[in-house]
Amino acid sequence: MKRVFDSLKSRITLSMLLISILPVVLLHFIIVNSYERNLIDRRTLEIHQRCNRICTRLGGNAEIEDSLTSDIVEILNWYSSAYGGRILVVNSVFHIVYDSYNADLGKQCISDAVFKAFSGTEYSDYQSSTEFISEVLPVYYTEEDEEEITGVLLFSSTTSWINDALETVEEEVLLIDAVLLVILVLLSFYAGYLISRPVRNVAYEVDRLNAGNTDVDLSAIHSYKEINEILESSEQVVQKFQELEKSQEEFVSNVSHELRTPITSVRVLADSLIGQENIEEEVYQDFLKDISYEVDREARIIEDLLTMVRLGKENTRLNIQTVNINELLLNILKVIRPIAEERNIELTLESFRQVTADVDEIKLGQAISNLIDNAVKYNREDGYVRVSLDADTEYFYIRISDNGIGIPEDSLPHIFDRFYRVDKARSRETGGTGLGLFITRSIILLHYGVIKAESTDGEGTAFTIRIPLRHVEQGGV
Ligand code: ADP
Repeated sequence: MKRVFDSLKSRITLSMLLISILPVVLLHFIIVNSYERNLIDRRTLEIHQRCNRICTRLGGNAEIEDSLTSDIVEILNWYSSAYGGRILVVNSVFHIVYDSYNADLGKQCISDAVFKAFSGTEYSDYQSSTEFISEVLPVYYTEEDEEEITGVLLFSSTTSWINDALETVEEEVLLIDAVLLVILVLLSFYAGYLISRPVRNVAYEVDRLNAGNTDVDLSAIHSYKEINEILESSEQVVQKFQELEKSQEEFVSNVSHELRTPITSVRVLADSLIGQENIEEEVYQDFLKDISYEVDREARIIEDLLTMVRLGKENTRLNIQTVNINELLLNILKVIRPIAEERNIELTLESFRQVTADVDEIKLGQAISNLIDNAVKYNREDGYVRVSLDADTEYFYIRISDNGIGIPEDSLPHIFDRFYRVDKARSRETGGTGLGLFITRSIILLHYGVIKAESTDGEGTAFTIRIPLRHVEQGGV
């Protein structure tokens, strides 16, 4: 049952019904009441006119009793039976001189209305509880332009007959009510259907989208402004998912390509060995060296991929310790120096102060190694690589600059992307995987740091890292 009223259509229908039934009920009572009021008003006026006429006749003599001729009495009797009421005539000393019921003849009649009538005030009243219209009028006798009140006429008439008239009217009004209600119910259902239609259209299209129909264009659906706004936001979410899906597809195809390249090389090398007879020992050695190098490369790619996946996990935790950064840099340089010396590249460290910071030594070491490694790899004979370390009260800064081959301006924004290399052939020659800078940046970000690259093509490159000295977990409470 609750589910039925959860639907927009039934809610609109129900609201429309409630809103429209109320005026119908109100209208019913207004019509019946005003009809009743109208009947009473008309009857009151009629009785008032009749009373006035009787009063004129009763005022024909100085003593009211003298006016009560048999003619008048007959008229009074007839009126009282015709209007289903009672007529009393009171004389100047408050005695009842005529009673159509003949019940209180001769008795005194002292009431507020009678008193007022003697002072010239007419009284007219309708009481719905007793269903009686009452008229109390003074009787004037005029002699030589002088008016004198010689008595009072009391006329009370039942209105019970009105109920019969009302019943008939009520029946007719009820019929109109019923017709109106049927129309309103139909209209409410139609309104519910009509108003909820744009929402149902959206639900239908979203269902189609869910079912995998790619031709669905949420932004093309015409609906209410509010729903269109929701659709626009959903469209953006859908687009983001599509982009994510695309980038994942790209990533998978890149990974496959990267993994296949060394294997293809190994295969070509092995095939060419198999295809030759009587190969010299030296050639064998050369080929096997190349094969070993390619296998190494494959291993490196897998290693980098695993590192990347581990760093990309949401709950990646750093093993934070207080580390002497000067020592860390010296150790890294010690490892890379022999490679630099092979090409006579000068490798220097300039420390402006002793720096200890809260870092993950292994991971940060890997990030800095990648940068210095690159500075050596993408350098020239007799070039230099300068590493400097500085700090202020909040951060420490490492700058790695070289006078190597540099990075073209249009490539600079992409160097932190996965698998991006400026020169694929050269990167492969030097054993690069294209993942180094991506991994480096992920590690710096995990340390809440920033990394920036500046480069001039053909002249050299500089990377600057800024990392907080104290590691304070962010995002948590
Ligand atoms: P790779 O494994 O190919 O070195 P990286 O992610 O470490 O991948 O670097 C991406 C690309 O950025 C490199 O292929 C190279 O073209 C460029 N690059 C990185 N560091 C330097 C540098 N110091 N000088 C010139 N080019 C660089």
